[in-house]
Amino acid sequence: MADARTQTSQTVLLVETLLRWFHRHARDLPWRRTKDPYRIWVSEVMLQQTRVDTVLGYYHRFLEQFPTLEDLANAPLEAVLKAWEGMGYYARARHLHRAAQQAWQQYRGFPPSYKAFRALPGVGAYTAAAVWAIAFGERHFPLDGNIRRVLARLFDLATLRDLDYREAGEPLLNAVPDGEVSAFVQSLMELGALICTPQNPRCSECPVRSFCQAYAHGTIPNRPLKKPKKPRPHYEVVLAYLLNAQGRVLLTRRKQEGFLGGLWELPGGKVEPGETLEQAVRRELYEELGLHIPDKLEYLGRVQHGYTHFSVTLHLFRGRVEAEPRWVRGPETYRWVPPDEIASLPLPRGTHKALALLEPPPSSDLFQPHNAP
Ligand code: SF4
Repeated sequence: MADARTQTSQTVLLVETLLRWFHRHARDLPWRRTKDPYRIWVSEVMLQQTRVDTVLGYYHRFLEQFPTLEDLANAPLEAVLKAWEGMGYYARARHLHRAAQQAWQQYRGFPPSYKAFRALPGVGAYTAAAVWAIAFGERHFPLDGNIRRVLARLFDLATLRDLDYREAGEPLLNAVPDGEVSAFVQSLMELGALICTPQNPRCSECPVRSFCQAYAHGTIPNRPLKKPKKPRPHYEVVLAYLLNAQGRVLLTRRKQEGFLGGLWELPGGKVEPGETLEQAVRRELYEELGLHIPDKLEYLGRVQHGYTHFSVTLHLFRGRVEAEPRWVRGPETYRWVPPDEIASLPLPRGTHKALALLEPPPSSDLFQPHNAP
């Protein structure tokens, strides 16, 4: 009984210490100046895979363009993807857009309950808990990488199971005074972002060091436990910058679902074993679009690009084509685009890099000087 009481008072003390620290040291971030659940939702979706410094610029621009849930719901997907361009993980933007559309259709605004919000397409357990705790102060525990790391260290958790993290975190959440849930959840996120960082945590400045079991046991480098990393594969990819008789460039749009879904790109694909680069680009153009290129394809160079799970070398070719695609297999659709309008479409960063190989900038003149080897 005495042990349980000590534990409870330690928990209360830990929560109070975190709250005090947060109220004194929290960064002044734009999504902390609002209780508008739509704005907090946008920030949480952006922050899931992207650093705060990067998100700041996108957040302001995105909300200038789509200031309310209604604006986002009524915007075309292409405009949403364009506003997201460069931040990566485009499924986030597609899901946010689709969820906003559904919320507007069903509720004419933000969903009225946690359950209704969680039921929107693409709204996962983390996002729902974060928005409901931060915007409405309800007792939900969002388990993201920062919070997971802080809990793993505070309680010296040698586990990968979410359930163990939740069991460790729930007593803390229950000890939070009414009206402070939003600040408490953000205090854990903030501690993970500023002090209890993945590498070299700043334990000497940590407000909760005296509570930290990993610090006491010397196990910090192994907390949280990490899943073994798979090696990151590398692919050679060919792309074609094809111009038609009107000087327009052929672009294809990726299918909405899946990697880089809904973005426009130059047609092409992976090089198969035993193929030359030119054979690969000709095969891809035929397989995906039914295009046969009678003339020479000019090699313009290559760029490297890395994604989270793989990396690519992109090889760019340039050529002319008179015919229309005979079919579209793989991409969702295609479009002939004037060179100076390409940048107005949402494009993957790798495509931007490849287009930079065209020197001077994209033009319909095939015979300009360029940097090809
Ligand atoms: S003492 Fe170090 S490891 Fe423990 S919570 Fe603080 S920063 Fe993290």
